[in-house]
Amino acid sequence: MNQTLGVAVVKKASVKDVRRRNRALILRHVWLNGPTSRSEVGAATGLSAATVTNVMNELIAEGAVREGGFLDSDGGRRRAIVTVAHDAALVIGADVGETQIGVKVFDLAFQPLAAREYPIKGRRIEVAEARAAIGAQVVSMLAELGASGDRVLGLGLGVPGIVQELPDGRQLVHAEVVGWHAADFSGFGDELGIPAYIDNGAKSTTQAEAWYGAARGVEHGVMVLVGEGAGAGIITDGQLYRGFSSSAGEWGHTKISLDGPHCRCGRTGCVETFVGASAVLDHWRGPDETWLGRETEGVEAILRAWRAGDEAAGRAIDGVVRHLGLALSNLVNLYNPQKIIVGGWFGDRIAAELLPDLQSAVRSFSLDQPGGEVVLVRSQLGPDAAVLGAATLPISHFIEYGAGAERLT
Ligand SMILES: [Zn+2]
Repeated sequence: MNQTLGVAVVKKASVKDVRRRNRALILRHVWLNGPTSRSEVGAATGLSAATVTNVMNELIAEGAVREGGFLDSDGGRRRAIVTVAHDAALVIGADVGETQIGVKVFDLAFQPLAAREYPIKGRRIEVAEARAAIGAQVVSMLAELGASGDRVLGLGLGVPGIVQELPDGRQLVHAEVVGWHAADFSGFGDELGIPAYIDNGAKSTTQAEAWYGAARGVEHGVMVLVGEGAGAGIITDGQLYRGFSSSAGEWGHTKISLDGPHCRCGRTGCVETFVGASAVLDHWRGPDETWLGRETEGVEAILRAWRAGDEAAGRAIDGVVRHLGLALSNLVNLYNPQKIIVGGWFGDRIAAELLPDLQSAVRSFSLDQPGGEVVLVRSQLGPDAAVLGAATLPISHFIEYGAGAERLT
């Protein structure tokens, strides 16, 4: 069972580590599978009844978990229902996308309580403006809910690029897509008075699909997000694969041509120059017609033209299926995924219309054995996955390390 997407730490286990690990195992099961019961938790985690009882009592005292009501079981014994104490704190997710910053407040069971969107004009935003905009939305939503910052367990921020952690603790974001070169996000949480966690948006979106969507229970999978750009989250052995400095998954900038189109990363022939929405629209109507700010409208137009038998639209759509299939087949040969989840606003439209064609293209370019095994599916959470995924970051840190436990009421 995939219960492990989250924060991986490898070190020699002490008694304290074992307690922390048991707590995380139990808490993760309750979060991802609740409502549940103590006996189900025991069966799913393999922990003894005594350990489950001890840890569960601690979690109830801490305020994270609640027991109440009864489930009927087959043997006639009634089992007490165990759930996340959904109203014990709030959690916030913020995602910097291609055209907007989405910010949402959730309860601990991920029910949305308030939402805001802040537009990114012309695909560029200064980091100071982004920080201020997120801060202002958080203040405004907490005021709407009549809640103070102390009630927030944490804020997770998803960004469209690489998050670099420096030895001195500073966090820099490299996101060419919105014009950030080593954008400094240090001290963001202190500024808000809320613990803040930051990660690449494709990785946090993959975590959302792994917890509540199409990647649930997937031990080896790939989630790809295609919009203007393209990114991926890779799950191996139930864990997000990060690489040496967490940049793994920058699949959109892997090359599928030596002399292909110029990419915003400064190189040529990257995957996203073939499968990104604007690239496909340019291929259809020529680069003279600008789609900037009207990409979703453009994508619907090209799909309509393709369905009506328009030849140029057919060539453009065929091109995106073949190039996306080729780029995905490289992931199949490299990572041997059991499942590929296709998401992102443009990826989802392509998958909705052309999933069988895309699956055939992937199989035709992959080695026979891994290509024959892999299954392509649409993302389940759709556009909501990005902000929800960001909100899983503080919950992950709470589950793994108890981070923010003092904020529970
Ligand atoms: Zn590139």
